Amino acid sequence: MNVLIAGAGPTGLTLGIELARRGIAVRVIDKATGFFDGSRGDGLQPRTLEVLEDLGVVDQVLEQSIAIPLMKIYLDGELVGERRMAEPVDPTPDIPYPNARMLGQSRTEKILRDKLAEYGVSVELDTAIVGFNQTDDSVTAELSTGETVEIDYLVGADGGRSFVRKQLGIAFEGTTDESIRTLLGDVAADGLDHEVGYWFATKDNPMAGIAMTPLSGGDQFQFGAPLDADDADTSIEGLQALVDKYAGAGTAKLRDLTWSTVWRPNVRLAAKFRVGRVFIAGDAAHVHPPTGGQGLNTGVQDAYNLGWKLADGREEVLATYETERRTNAMRVLGISEDLMQKHVEGDESAMERGENTRQLDVSYRDPSDTRPLVSGDRAPDAPLVDASGNKVRLFELFRGPHETLLRFSPTTPSTHAHAVDITSPEAFAIYHAQPGDEILIRPDGYLA
Ligand SMILES: Cc1cc2nc3c(=O)[nH]c(=O)nc-3n(C[C@H](O)[C@H](O)[C@H](O)COP(=O)(O)OP(=O)(O)OC[C@H]3O[C@@H](n4cnc5c(N)ncnc54)[C@H](O)[C@@H]3O)c2cc1C
Repeated sequence: MNVLIAGAGPTGLTLGIELARRGIAVRVIDKATGFFDGSRGDGLQPRTLEVLEDLGVVDQVLEQSIAIPLMKIYLDGELVGERRMAEPVDPTPDIPYPNARMLGQSRTEKILRDKLAEYGVSVELDTAIVGFNQTDDSVTAELSTGETVEIDYLVGADGGRSFVRKQLGIAFEGTTDESIRTLLGDVAADGLDHEVGYWFATKDNPMAGIAMTPLSGGDQFQFGAPLDADDADTSIEGLQALVDKYAGAGTAKLRDLTWSTVWRPNVRLAAKFRVGRVFIAGDAAHVHPPTGGQGLNTGVQDAYNLGWKLADGREEVLATYETERRTNAMRVLGISEDLMQKHVEGDESAMERGENTRQLDVSYRDPSDTRPLVSGDRAPDAPLVDASGNKVRLFELFRGPHETLLRFSPTTPSTHAHAVDITSPEAFAIYHAQPGDEILIRPDGYLA
């Protein structure tokens, strides 16, 4: 089997790893001539960290990222308070990574690209998909290099303006709010403490202001500043003028503006995630406001959901990609949009992150089933003791492309290649299990 992935953002890279580690021939192409070098999606949610553990890159991510920083709130130049988007909590046996981490998107992508390269797959830059056709058996794609390729499946992970989605004629339903415009980017700021983040605003309008959050691996901050005029100056001088206006002249001297973009709230969901042998994933299928930090995370999890299903290839398995991930995207968009609306309305709770932004509660269960842990739910971690008496975490046994059969105090041997016999009372409790129960865990860590 072979697969072409159009787009080497976090979604395309994750899918590339998922397929390559299953030995599937995969090419990852990107129309850009160089790798993207901005912090964009810099919040990695707990569920994404679990995915990254399974992909074998969580140690690098934890090492290179920082915890959610404390934000100092200044109104008219006066420190009025400190808050954190979410208070840090301790890991528990079932949730090893309870707290989101901050890592600039370009650094997350580098980690994923390096992992993909370990499987012998390099991103092909300056290579766009420019056309494709499909039959019942294959897809033929035209590349900007003049090459024609025949593949079993095509995946458009080609971002919000997805060529693949447009070519399939899939509607991208939703809104773009032209009335709100924010200047976002990466800049260093002398005079500010890089250990914390800042919110600079005025007393008469405390919710409209400039956010500066520290980025790991240097002295830059990711900033977000409101723009009021269409012709706003997006140069470093223009940004300095905004910082002087909200923070007070002399508070921070900006330098090293390496990336900036003007952003409008965009909330859109594709009407379909698949036509025949062609799939869309990530921003190609759904775009989010940055409130809640869900976009990149949702894309990574689309890819994690789709990878093993493409490898499986059975129609009944492939069909679940759209039902599971589109329903989830709809829910996540609702969360991001609610937070965005609160922000616009000046509700301070918009700055806090609730339980639902961690994506640990993502579930594909039948919503009418009220039992605590059922098919479609995330398989929690649990502490175990192996046959030699060593402590081992369940997530360590989940690592890799396989499914896992959990057997609680079994009385007979199993022929399953990845059967785990469990006697630990803690694992029994976490899984609400009885002796003799068997629970099959999908390759993407959900109860089958
Ligand atoms: C300012 C900003 C802040 C954000 N903050 C957060 C956050 O805190 N948390 C979060 O989770 N998300 C955040 N996001 C969203 C996040 O950046 C995106 O959701 C994420 O980049 C989506 O990844 P992707 O791989 O699906 O698409 P992209 O990263 O957009 O990648 C698509 C790739 O496809 C390539 N491409 C396009 N057309 C073609 C073609 N025809 N052929 C081949 N390749 C093509 C592009 O060059 C690009 O490299 C933010 C976004 C922005 C803009």
